[in-house]
Amino acid sequence: MSDAPKVRVRFAPSPTGYLHIGGVRTALYCWLYAKQKGGDFILRIEDTDQERSTDEAVQVVLDAMQWLGLDWSEGPTVDGAPTLGGGDHGPYFQTQRKHLYAEYADKLIADGKAYRCYASKKEIHEARQAFEKEHGKGFKFQSPWRDRDASEGDPSAPHSIRFKAPKTGVTGWVDKVKGRIDVPNDTQQDFILMRSDGLPLYNFGCVVDDHAMGITLVVRGDDHVINTAPQILLYEALGATSPEFGHLPMVLGKNGKKLSKRNTEVAVAALDYRDLGYLPDAVLNYLARLGWSHGDQEIFTRDELIAKFDWEHVGSNASKYDLKKFLHVQSQHLRMLDEDTLATMVVPFLKARGLEVAADNATLRAALGPVKLRAATFIELADGLDYFFRDDVTYEEKAKKKFLKPELAGNLEKLAEIVESASAFDEETLERDVLAWTEPAELKMKFVAQPARVAMTGRTRSPGLYETMVLLGRDKTIARLRAAAEVAKQAEPA
Ligand code: GLU
Repeated sequence: MSDAPKVRVRFAPSPTGYLHIGGVRTALYCWLYAKQKGGDFILRIEDTDQERSTDEAVQVVLDAMQWLGLDWSEGPTVDGAPTLGGGDHGPYFQTQRKHLYAEYADKLIADGKAYRCYASKKEIHEARQAFEKEHGKGFKFQSPWRDRDASEGDPSAPHSIRFKAPKTGVTGWVDKVKGRIDVPNDTQQDFILMRSDGLPLYNFGCVVDDHAMGITLVVRGDDHVINTAPQILLYEALGATSPEFGHLPMVLGKNGKKLSKRNTEVAVAALDYRDLGYLPDAVLNYLARLGWSHGDQEIFTRDELIAKFDWEHVGSNASKYDLKKFLHVQSQHLRMLDEDTLATMVVPFLKARGLEVAADNATLRAALGPVKLRAATFIELADGLDYFFRDDVTYEEKAKKKFLKPELAGNLEKLAEIVESASAFDEETLERDVLAWTEPAELKMKFVAQPARVAMTGRTRSPGLYETMVLLGRDKTIARLRAAAEVAKQAEPA
């Protein structure tokens, strides 16, 4: 047995109203690592920004994590999901842990590692102005309270608690993703740990919680690299061992900018992927590969990811979000689903289009196989199934213009006749009868198949010609071919 401590990793989102897809990747890597090592994955809600951290904003995080199946062994409890949440290190909301922050702050003050600073906003502002006038940028507030006797202040007056940052030496760590990073201590200032409201500022809350929760590895976005040296200094001041750290590069949009709601056309919020008809396993697969590799394998099941994930192959450069790749991964996962699951999952997407179709509907069952080969998301799948369940087809404008033309109307009428008189209504018979017409006439199949496809489905992308006919049924096929022939006759000649 190894005596390495049990892996304890955490995901610590600040609820903002949506869970960013880059945050999901951070959560995923931690989750995979915890699962692989038989460790704990802790969900902690950093809700100190009380304006943004509304109940709804927290709920969105919990819903997204649940939809993705990133279950947490410790964290907020969820009604009806008895296996989620709870734990010995709670509460898991920072606003409910004020007593702990006060306790740690008192200890730091008592040990001379922190001090109460009564400097007013005005005083700090004036000091900044004076500095900037002379030196330009780079202001660090030097509080006069750092070296004053504590008895000079009145703790019942408004004040903040500042860290007594060391002025010399270097603080560094070996980052799990980025390698060795060293930061000279003289770049630090006496940063604020807590204000009078008892809520911690990020670095302090994070260290108190990671320490109290026994976290062994902290993984987060590399926008937090700047916070790590101050955090390590805090661990030292507390006489505690700091956890390991890993910083993940950002996910960039196509334009090379940070993926954000403002500057990208792709979905950024995790739950949007649910609504767009993605599968959680596909989302996780794509995000896992966005920054981590395992040879040239692209498609992974969840269990494979758990077995194969490693920090050594997490890249240290930013990754670019690629929607085409994402859709490819998604389409592969869609094909992996068994028919029952696929049918059950597509029903709500059909319903959203106004189609009430039961999961055991025979046409649905028969059409799923061929249609899923031409779809990536459930929205696309529902779109590809739509015309089987309507009385009339709606033609895509472009398809109609291109294929429902007067000179092709005759072909549609002839095809309708062939279908009507075919001795059997199956793919082989239909194909044989159609070829018996087109071959001697030296009629190219595209002048028959494409208009027929548009006639039957309204679009140019669908399962094969005869396959579609059989799925539609003889009567609907004939009616649609004839209706389209009429539309074609009315169209402007090319
Ligand atoms: N609440 C911080 C964030 O959402 C957490 C950073 C960390 O993991 O330490 O960025």
